[in-house]
Amino acid sequence: MGNTTTKHIAVIGSGFSGLAAACTLAQKGFKVTVLEKNEKAGGRGRSFSAEGFVFDMGPSWYWMPEVMEEFFQSFGKSTADYYTLKRLDPGYRVFLKDEQLDVSAEMHKIQSLFEGIEPGAGKALAKFMDEAKEKYTAGMGKFVRKPAHSFTEFAELDLLKALFKIQLFSDMRSHLRSHFKSPLLLQLLEFPVLFLGAKPSKTPALYSLMNYADLELGTWYPMGGMAKVPEAMLELAQSLGVQVITNQNVTGFEFEDNEISAVKTQNQTYIVDGVIASADYHHVEQTLLPKKYRQYDEAYWEKRTMSPSSLLFYVGLNEKVPGLEHHNLFFENSFDVHAQEIYDHPQWPSNPLFYLCCPSKTDKTVAPENGENMFFLIPVAPGLQSTDELREHYWNLMCNAVQRRTGTDIRNHVVYKRSFAHEEFQSEYNSFKGNAYGLANTLMQTAFLKPKMKSKQLKNLYYAGQLTVPGPGMPPGIISGQLAAEELSQQLN
Ligand SMILES: Cc1cc2nc3c(=O)[nH]c(=O)nc-3n(C[C@H](O)[C@H](O)[C@H](O)COP(=O)(O)OP(=O)(O)OC[C@H]3O[C@@H](n4cnc5c(N)ncnc54)[C@H](O)[C@@H]3O)c2cc1C
Repeated sequence: MGNTTTKHIAVIGSGFSGLAAACTLAQKGFKVTVLEKNEKAGGRGRSFSAEGFVFDMGPSWYWMPEVMEEFFQSFGKSTADYYTLKRLDPGYRVFLKDEQLDVSAEMHKIQSLFEGIEPGAGKALAKFMDEAKEKYTAGMGKFVRKPAHSFTEFAELDLLKALFKIQLFSDMRSHLRSHFKSPLLLQLLEFPVLFLGAKPSKTPALYSLMNYADLELGTWYPMGGMAKVPEAMLELAQSLGVQVITNQNVTGFEFEDNEISAVKTQNQTYIVDGVIASADYHHVEQTLLPKKYRQYDEAYWEKRTMSPSSLLFYVGLNEKVPGLEHHNLFFENSFDVHAQEIYDHPQWPSNPLFYLCCPSKTDKTVAPENGENMFFLIPVAPGLQSTDELREHYWNLMCNAVQRRTGTDIRNHVVYKRSFAHEEFQSEYNSFKGNAYGLANTLMQTAFLKPKMKSKQLKNLYYAGQLTVPGPGMPPGIISGQLAAEELSQQLN
């Protein structure tokens, strides 16, 4: 191996975690090559264009803006050097059985909304948010940037105290019910947990920090689309000398003395000193590594609780649809039944809740003039299969709901439509069970209980991304890449 400046690191995958790791390592003087199987960088966060529309393929909620800001600032840049952020107001619209609510960007208005639904809930929200803020500050400050190799990292007294304060050991369902009674408000506050992870009863109360991120820190949007974020990270990476090579499907490795000495793709061999595997952890372990270098077996993975997969539709319309906001949650049906059909008895949902993103309400550049850009998402259990007929069934369910609530039958205005579910998550990202956003944030899968970032068998291999710490989402993905890069760089120096 050469000296630090000449050491070569391969990063597998160009999602948020891979690009964050690549930038961090390049800044430290390593030679970095990112190998991406798809034609375009950005992973789940990239976009595609069709018929004059630009569709973001995955994330649409830009939360925790300070994480992205701090990332770019650590390179002497700012998000403003790459894209313009807009805070959405209302943050989102919720369609309930008999009414609709707009969640304002202003806390006093949200408090009035709560008070109107349940007397006393406005005050209760203020108390709930104070606690959520404490968790956010402790969680994002002290915990999220721990590589979580073992519990001992958390064993300092002040951290232990904070651990109890942030309620890592009690659950979100009971926590919410200790503040609110109205089923409507409970559903509103449980939505980030259901959409991003597991059943509220299995999720640590720590995750009320998500409510703080949602209601207090706000929902933002990068003009041009969410894909502006990975595009900015790619530009930064390239300016730091990182080579990003697309259409490079990593197929295996060469080994020497319990280290990876080379990474192989379908047509190339890259000699390396270290590897960050930011592709789906399960795929790297179970498909790319020989058995003796795996730290988990198939039985371990089978026991993991995955976040939901999703049935998605990317749809372009030749007409505007009044009555919708940028983010729309269709919560007309039973939350509990849908959650059971995702987590307890995995099956296609009978009467699903769904989410409809309509970024053309904010951004003219993502749809042709007078057109509407739509992204539909139904959270569904991982590991299912679908047919075209089944997908059409859900498409029609959602169109009926949109027609009921807005008066427009969008089926008459479709100029582009593409669906995406488990099968595509597997073929596009090598995703375990077709998961959309990784491992669920359950109590038994938090911090040091997640699949480990550091390989025990191979000294120069670190994992990053949504199946390891800190977890799924764009901000955690970025942090994960930074953490893995720090750890590998210490190992190599
Ligand atoms: C539908 C959907 C909606 C979401 N909504 C939000 C949201 O609103 N807000 C939010 O913050 N987060 C959201 N998320 C979660 C967020 O997008 C992900 O957690 C994040 O993008 C994961 O980044 P990553 O780097 O871990 O993985 P990925 O983005 O999956 O990157 C891994 C990369 O590895 C590549 N790869 C796989 N196998 C190989 C191989 N053998 N060789 C080479 N390359 C390989 C893949 O092609 C991919 O590009 C959403 C995700 C989805 C799918």
